[in-house]
Amino acid sequence: MMTTPPSSSSEQPSEKTDLLQYARAIHERVITLDSHIDFAPADLVSERNYTQRLDTQFNLPKMIEGGLDGLFFIVFVAQTRESQNTEALKAPGYDRAYQRALEKFDAVHHFTHAIARDQIELAFTASDARRIHAAGKKIAFMGVENGYALGEDLRFVQEFYDRGARYLSLTHNGHNQLADSHTGEREGWKWHGVSPLGEEVVAAMNRLGMMVDVSHASKNAMMQIATLSKAPVIASHSAVRALCDVSRNLDDEQLLALQKTGGVIQVVAYNGFIKTTKADSPERLAALAALQKEYDLPEMKGPGQQARLQAALKTWPAERRKEYESKLGDLNKSYPGDLPATLNDFVDHIDYAVNLLGIDHVGISSDFDGGGGVIEWNDASETFNVTLELVHRGYSEKQIERLWGGNLLRVMGENERIARELQD
Ligand SMILES: [Zn+2]
Repeated sequence: MMTTPPSSSSEQPSEKTDLLQYARAIHERVITLDSHIDFAPADLVSERNYTQRLDTQFNLPKMIEGGLDGLFFIVFVAQTRESQNTEALKAPGYDRAYQRALEKFDAVHHFTHAIARDQIELAFTASDARRIHAAGKKIAFMGVENGYALGEDLRFVQEFYDRGARYLSLTHNGHNQLADSHTGEREGWKWHGVSPLGEEVVAAMNRLGMMVDVSHASKNAMMQIATLSKAPVIASHSAVRALCDVSRNLDDEQLLALQKTGGVIQVVAYNGFIKTTKADSPERLAALAALQKEYDLPEMKGPGQQARLQAALKTWPAERRKEYESKLGDLNKSYPGDLPATLNDFVDHIDYAVNLLGIDHVGISSDFDGGGGVIEWNDASETFNVTLELVHRGYSEKQIERLWGGNLLRVMGENERIARELQD
């Protein structure tokens, strides 16, 4: 991190091979845990599932190829805005969100218990993760993205915990009954932070030992959570605002508040949060809009655009998809856009966070199948590239072990310990 990477031109081939082997050995030994991977329940059914090499960024064959040891499957529920539906923050909206969450919990249980039980196992504690890894299986945790699905009933916090959730973010994009979202920077605020109910949810999570995830929360909400929580908090998939000025990222003040809780930022390899790309030219925008329209695709705007696009493409026959991709390739040649983020840009965020917070408060996440999009770590099969880049930058095995999951498991253990204390 503080040393200059050996330049490929000056080093001897044997040094290069040594470094590669050294990195491979580290990658083999440490537990590599990715704290944020989305999925569609339709990809975890008997006929079509992650034991197959699906056209998804994450699945077991790609995970094995990349040497990724574990993940958090994300029970994500989209936020219905009150402006879109007056019943968004009333029983009908909550019920829909809750049903969607259950569907995702069930899908992960079915996958890990029935479909792939000899390959991957559901973990509930930090020590489960180590036991499962030692037994040669992949580790599956679950996290909830968006407390919207809890409605206004605190009993559901316990229910989600019982179903396996080990972290939960109060919000996603758009404010809900628990807290303000980062999107308030464009839309204005509802609570100016966490709502009274949101405060109760944080307390309930602390009592259970479920980690509070501040990704997607507004700055005010995030800072309030850092003060409210009796246990270390996490940002399950966020990056550094000083390097990429978007509302989803954490500024230095937020990062230091997170550190003060004893928590960890799981730096996310999501293109749009790693690099602020230059705005497209009017000609490129017009050409893109025309192509989207020709193929009846969703508008490429706002957070989650890649995910929406990928979801739409997934439903197409291969032929149509190929045709679209070839036209997109031509368009990119005629009207080039700014280049997406690379692995190097991503690890710059890790370096920045480590320099500010120290090695104990930084981790790694991909946001695969919810976005991702960083060149050289764009699916689980490329996971080794991250370790190799960390080795290039001079991180030691011990430091890499912490970044790749050691810190997150420590924070989880702390949450478990504090919960026991609070329950006594
Ligand atoms: Zn997210």
